[in-house]
Amino acid sequence: MNAGDRVRARRADTTYEGVLLPSSTPDHLVLKLDGGYNVGVDREDAEVELLETDVYEIGGEGNGEESAVEFDDDLPTVSLISTGGTIASTVDYRTGAVTAQFDAEDVLRAVPDLAGLANYRGRVVTNILSENMTPAVWRELAEAVHEEIENGADGVVVMHGTDTMQFSASALSFMLDTPVPVVFTGSQRSADRPSSDNVMNAVCAVEAAKSDLAEVLVCMHASESDDRCALHRGTRVRKNHTSRRDAFETVGRKPLAEVDYGSREIVTRREHATRGERELALSPDLEADVELLKYTPGMGPEALEPYEDVVGLVIEGTGLGHVHTDWIPRIEELVESGIPVVITSQCLEGRVCDRVYDTGRDLLDAGVVEAGDTLPGTAKVKLMWALANADSPAETMRTDLAGELTERSVPWS
Ligand code: GLU
Repeated sequence: MNAGDRVRARRADTTYEGVLLPSSTPDHLVLKLDGGYNVGVDREDAEVELLETDVYEIGGEGNGEESAVEFDDDLPTVSLISTGGTIASTVDYRTGAVTAQFDAEDVLRAVPDLAGLANYRGRVVTNILSENMTPAVWRELAEAVHEEIENGADGVVVMHGTDTMQFSASALSFMLDTPVPVVFTGSQRSADRPSSDNVMNAVCAVEAAKSDLAEVLVCMHASESDDRCALHRGTRVRKNHTSRRDAFETVGRKPLAEVDYGSREIVTRREHATRGERELALSPDLEADVELLKYTPGMGPEALEPYEDVVGLVIEGTGLGHVHTDWIPRIEELVESGIPVVITSQCLEGRVCDRVYDTGRDLLDAGVVEAGDTLPGTAKVKLMWALANADSPAETMRTDLAGELTERSVPWS
């Protein structure tokens, strides 16, 4: 019996049926069950029956053999780029981490359900938890995605930790004009847990990468069930739960589309850029010295002191975009020293409007830039991009570039 064979394993009262994965120890069988979960079965007390050979062509095992994954002319090519996080930790079954030999075989070993959906190219940009992401890695990632598309990828899937996926997706949204889908996905629960979301998210992400939605997207569970994934626009999405599989939400509106896991149908909910509509282009420069500061009651104006030397500052204000009145003269000094100060709201839904109350009017007089309904995290990334690429960063912050700033809404309705 070899990796890739379909087997039935009986142990005590339990029977498992699935595809045999290469196992790190001779004492255990690792089976990929039909639902996508992996189980380890102790070889000693298991009765194993071979049902079918070579259900998946899994080869290589990192030993330099030629690729066992055959190229199918009829299938689109999807590039799978790994950056780390929980989803990538399944890719190498031996070490639990991504290796430099992350290739099509590694991917199919980890998620055999992907076989037959596309031709794959594998690439590692980094292998980090996403709390360790930096603007320098965003740049490397954008360059890698650009290169994959230039080399003919019909779509790109980026495997990423979930904690800061929304920042990386925003960064790529501003850096890249893409004629094909660029789909971020991850998993909230690792492959060894029965409730892992890695298989469904990966499969839906590949379906999205083959689709007509030529935008930077985030593809994650849409509900607590294994029924569908949502496709969120990269600049409007937010992780809103620490552990639920449907943690990601498009703020203030419906996601762009959903992928039905059963039928694999993509149901579009909103207007989106279509395949081939945009020319491929890359502007990867960022000004890294931009900070995001959340104002909360009790913070005196001295809280602004550490920001006197930054290149740009985003403030997450209260309500329509406010801070304590005592902050306003300090903010005016920052603006006069040439630092763009951008106001967003910690309400998340709705847009800032500093024309309604005195505090807001005084902030406007102090020279702040309103970011409309741009999410605070997205506004930080956008200001980094604008400072490195735009003649007038302030004007750019008031202009929609990648769906981050939506139409005017009446703030008090
Ligand atoms: N906190 C880590 C990260 O965001 C691991 C969890 C995950 O992959 O979502 O990369």
